Amino acid sequence: MKWCLAVGLAVLWVLFTGQPSQSQTTSLAGVIDFHVHSGPDSRPRSVSDLEIARIAKRAGMRGLVFKNHFTMTADRAWLAMQEVDGIEIFGGVALNHAVGGLNPEVVRQLVAFSGGRGKVVWLPTFDAEFWMTRAGDPGQFVPVVREGLPDPALGEIFDLIAEHDLVLAMGHSSPEEVLVLIPDARRRGVQKILVTHGLGQQPSRAQLVAMAEQGAIIELVWLAVGSGEFSFSDYASAIREIGAEHFLLSSDLGQEMNPLHTDGLLAFMDGLRSEGISESDIDQMIRINPAFLLGLAP
Ligand SMILES: [Zn+2]
Repeated sequence: MKWCLAVGLAVLWVLFTGQPSQSQTTSLAGVIDFHVHSGPDSRPRSVSDLEIARIAKRAGMRGLVFKNHFTMTADRAWLAMQEVDGIEIFGGVALNHAVGGLNPEVVRQLVAFSGGRGKVVWLPTFDAEFWMTRAGDPGQFVPVVREGLPDPALGEIFDLIAEHDLVLAMGHSSPEEVLVLIPDARRRGVQKILVTHGLGQQPSRAQLVAMAEQGAIIELVWLAVGSGEFSFSDYASAIREIGAEHFLLSSDLGQEMNPLHTDGLLAFMDGLRSEGISESDIDQMIRINPAFLLGLAP
C-alpha cells in the first residue's frame, strides 16, 4: 500500500542519513490532528495521550483533539498540556451509551471542567443507529432522528453547543440524518459543524454537496485510506469537485496495529500531493479549517 511505501522510504532516509528529510522536518509544522485515538482506552491503542502529545510536539504539530468513544477527554487534554509545552490539545465527548447517550449534563460538564479544553461533541458513534444497523448489531442504539425529526433531547444539547461555541461533530449518523440535523443545529445557533469521516457513511455526491452548502466541514480521515476503504483519488475527486474550503484532514489513528498519527498524516499529505492537490488546499484542510473549528487564530 502507498502509505507503507511512504513510511518505509522515510525510515530508510533516516537510517541512511541520520536525519529526517527536509519535507519530513517541515511538513507537519502547524498541523492539527482533529481525530486522535490514544490510551488509556477500553480498546487497544498504540500510544498513550502523553506519548502522542510528545511525538506531535517533536514533529512540530500545532494541535491535537483527543477522541474517545466512551469517555470525556477535556480533562486528559488539559493534563497532557501540563506535561507537554507548546501544543494545543483539546477534548470532547461522544454521546454513546457510556455517557448516557443524548445527555446534556455531560456536555455541561465538558465545558465546566477546569482547563477549558472541552471543544467537540460527537453524536453517537459506535452506538449510532446507522452504524449498528449496517454492522448487523442487534443491540440498542442511541437514535438521533425519530420519524424524520431530530430527537427532542438534541434541542438542549444543540443550545449548549451554540452557547459555548463548541463543534458539533456528526459521529456515525447517516447522511440522511446529517441533512436533517444540520438545519436544526444552525437554527439553534450552532456555528461549527463537522461531518465525521464524511465519506465513510457513503453519502451520495449530492448529499455531500448539500452538507457543504449548509456550512458543514467534511472530515476526511487517513485511516480509511490506510485500510483500503477509499483511495487518495476518491478523496482528491471530492476535494476538487466540492472545494478544499469544505474539508478537514485528520488521521483517525491510534489503533494498536496501525502507524503512528504523525506518519499517517505525512503519508496523507503526500498521497494528496501525488493526486495533484495543491499545497495551499492541503494547508486549508489540515491547518486552517481545524484551527477555525477550535477557535484558534488561522
Ligand atoms: Zn475515530
